[in-house]
Amino acid sequence: MTKFSDLGLDPKLLAAIEGAGYDTPSPIQAQAIPLVLSGRDVMGLAQTGTGKTAAFGLPLIHTLMQQPGKPMPKNVRALILAPTRELVGQIADNLKIYAKGTKLFVGTVVGGLSINKQAQMLTKGVDILVATPGRLIDLMDRGAVRLDQATFLVLDEADQMLDMGFIHALRQIAPKLGTPRQTMLFSATMPKLMEELSRSYLTNPAKVQVATPGKAADKITQGVHWAQSKGEKVELLIKYLSKEPDALSLVFGRTKHGSEKLKRQLEDAGFKAVSIHGNKSQGQRDRALQAFRDGAARVLVATDVAARGIDIPGVSHVYNFDLPEVPENYVHRIGRTARAGADGDAIAFVTGDEIGLLKQIQKVMKVDIPVIGGERPEEVEPEKKQRGGRGGPRGGGRGASGGGNGGQRQHKPKSASQGKPANGGQQKRNRNRRSGGGGKARAA
Ligand code: AMP
Repeated sequence: MTKFSDLGLDPKLLAAIEGAGYDTPSPIQAQAIPLVLSGRDVMGLAQTGTGKTAAFGLPLIHTLMQQPGKPMPKNVRALILAPTRELVGQIADNLKIYAKGTKLFVGTVVGGLSINKQAQMLTKGVDILVATPGRLIDLMDRGAVRLDQATFLVLDEADQMLDMGFIHALRQIAPKLGTPRQTMLFSATMPKLMEELSRSYLTNPAKVQVATPGKAADKITQGVHWAQSKGEKVELLIKYLSKEPDALSLVFGRTKHGSEKLKRQLEDAGFKAVSIHGNKSQGQRDRALQAFRDGAARVLVATDVAARGIDIPGVSHVYNFDLPEVPENYVHRIGRTARAGADGDAIAFVTGDEIGLLKQIQKVMKVDIPVIGGERPEEVEPEKKQRGGRGGPRGGGRGASGGGNGGQRQHKPKSASQGKPANGGQQKRNRNRRSGGGGKARAA
């Protein structure tokens, strides 16, 4: 097995890795680190939770340490773009841990926080800047930051950035970087557009991947529980949550309003629940996530956008309260459990108007998700149902290149009334929770 000490990293980095409590490189790290150190562009197919931040962060820090020079005022040496504020914070927290013991300065710029403070931070220059594309462009437009010193570009969660419409921002940002440039692109799924992105921004990239595209982690047990109505879904969710009193559960809703309502219904039913969605301020989201990470709340209700890329260790159950309208998001959602080799359950509540979406998801996943409970409702065209202006299923044509069903473990179909999630809560949660420095990395 590859050891961190085999990868050619600076001893200071090896010490930081040890301090973070990492024993052995994760598969994506073992593959990507030597490639990045050799100067190659890298295209990585990997979800959050696979250790991809260190996969690009460690060799990036190593290379910056080897290169003489400091950042020039209002300039940066390496740029990392990520789709959400939360993800930017998480990446920067991890990089700060890895860069401990070096003189490298890691800065962040994200929307929703004071732009003046960020401009101020940039005046002296930054070794590694982690940014959301929109705010970075605002700062570039103000003349607060230049990128011509930057010879590294990392595009993290690139598929999400595309989904969120950051392609235009990327077109503006990328040409402003210095040359020659080393570029790394990480994505959890590989839709066609990603290949195009890679052709535009990467040169002869080495490809690394830790899971087949569109395939859920091997250790996730998936199941569908039929529901006749929204109201029944709430009842079902409460039943499932009650059966696993110690589990840490992530519940996905489709809309901001619906997610907030569901959170209140869960609170009324006596659960410690928090929510994150677009109607929450940054402070509220941070507090909710902290409560969930600390275990003060054991249910987090989230929308896709709010939950994008966030590393929440120890999640043992993912509930698709509403199915995602974009099939690839199902892969993202269920990938939030079964991190780091732990097991996880992913249960979807599906009503008649979601059967079409379910079929699309199964097509993308190339797997039939077993039914674990409920009576199959009659299939209803979503358009025929009032959905507050929302259309029917989207994304059917976006097809991720598929993957087999490999060693995927699945719920054994049970009688319609049972639908009991697999194995016990506390044990699983303890197993899932990482020991040592992993926690430190997250809390930083
Ligand atoms: P990421 O996929 O980069 O978001 O990382 C997910 C989590 O795994 C983070 O909490 C990291 O601190 C942790 N991690 C990254 N690499 C390793 C490793 N080699 N061993 C143990 N934990 C790791």
